[in-house]
Amino acid sequence: MKKQYLTTGPTQTKKLGEKLAKETLKRPLKKQAFILGLEGDLGGGKTTFLQGFAKGLGVKEKILSPTFVIFRKFKIRVNSCSNSRKFANLYHIDCYRIEKPKEISDLGFKEIIQNPKNIVVIEWADKIRKILPEDTIILKFHFVNKNKREIMIRLKDGEV
Ligand code: ADP
Ligand code: MG
Repeated sequence: MKKQYLTTGPTQTKKLGEKLAKETLKRPLKKQAFILGLEGDLGGGKTTFLQGFAKGLGVKEKILSPTFVIFRKFKIRVNSCSNSRKFANLYHIDCYRIEKPKEISDLGFKEIIQNPKNIVVIEWADKIRKILPEDTIILKFHFVNKNKREIMIRLKDGEV
């Protein structure tokens, strides 16, 4: 997987999300959920990325910036493998308003990340870093200018 992307406009960021979603669907299921953490600047493109990512998973509903809702669950409709090993749900979790990881763990977070059929995308993942598994993939969004965003990909405990 490439480690660094530069997009010039929301459409490109959505396309990147769509591409990574399709790659994700090709992965074999693991023992736990597949988790993506989105970090970085406000307006950096986290929600925009997720809109493309959800599209790549065949999610039909519109992905919004949750204001007060922390968790949203969507059905994954496209899959590259058709048997029982396929992904079933996309969770969108927004930690913007969270102050302590406990606020998330109290909402059944553990059960969600234990289910191998879940794909879990967490905005402001740095706020709950303590309770994220080591193999969480982190995408860091950096606002370069009005239309440019730099997106860096690494593992949770990898170098920044
Ligand atoms: P975040 O969820 O990180 O706060 P959003 O995705 O909600 O960010 O907002 C990003 C805003 O920046 C949107 O209004 C989008 O149209 C705009 N934008 C401009 N250029 C880009 C780009 N290259 N990638 C993503 N969003 C962009
Ligand atoms: Mg957002």
